[in-house]
Amino acid sequence: MSMNGRALSLPLLLAFPGLSFGVGPIQVLIVDGQNNHAWQQTTPMLRKILESTGRFKVDVATSPPPGGDMSRFQPRFAAYNVVLSNYNGDSWSPETKAAFEEFVRNGGGFVSYHAADNAFPEWKEYQRMIAVGGWGGRTTQQFGPVLRVRDGQTVRDASPANCGHHGNRLPFQVTMRDPKHPIALGLPTVWMHAADELYDTLCGPAENVDVLATAHSDPANLGTNENEPMLMAIRYGKGRVFHTTLGHDPEAIQCTGFIVTLQRGTEWAATGRVTQRIPADFPKADQASTRSIR
Ligand code: ZN
Repeated sequence: MSMNGRALSLPLLLAFPGLSFGVGPIQVLIVDGQNNHAWQQTTPMLRKILESTGRFKVDVATSPPPGGDMSRFQPRFAAYNVVLSNYNGDSWSPETKAAFEEFVRNGGGFVSYHAADNAFPEWKEYQRMIAVGGWGGRTTQQFGPVLRVRDGQTVRDASPANCGHHGNRLPFQVTMRDPKHPIALGLPTVWMHAADELYDTLCGPAENVDVLATAHSDPANLGTNENEPMLMAIRYGKGRVFHTTLGHDPEAIQCTGFIVTLQRGTEWAATGRVTQRIPADFPKADQASTRSIR
């Protein structure tokens, strides 16, 4: 590279640290340390899924254990393009919450993975980032409507409800609802997901949210008979949030549909674009597809 090119590119990168120009890896920070799920097992898998593309470089920030001194947990969010949360536990300190809000509001990417949407019921801005969440005492009366797709239209249903529920872990079909979105572009309209929890009745502010994919919650498996959101794209300030409800355990994570949507969603959250191709082993409408990640 010429001195001239170097002189031009450095100020650009300094001015827009969140931008990636398709050169060099996207810097990802996974936050974990507390979860009612096996985060010690899943974080290395998530890292492998992202780094296997060659598009990402992943660091991990692990919090103190439950009941620990959370004032010591101060990840350097601003040093990354995107933060992926595998965290569902004690409240972060006010300083760490404020730093995270500032990071996303200023254009940082955020990926809310599975039970991350159970976290932080006390944190109002977090609800706006994830659009909808479940458990933790959430009700539509206190948190906002349930988000569903009926007759192809996204509906905000404010009927009184306790929020957050799932049936038994079974394979189910995922239906893409916004095929022109960069995350969805080129994916089959319907694909079979490996056995997983199908979250239903998630609620929240549900603002600035694009439901990218739904799954039908089967009454025969304790479901709602509604098309429940599985993948969402949310705007928060200048930031982009990719919310995937999928991926309860290693079996669900090894679904090629989970893998590819996580890779694409993380790139979109970081950069607003997706440069990855759809792999040949992507699941089909009636045929699940898995990869060995461990
Ligand atoms: Zn789960």
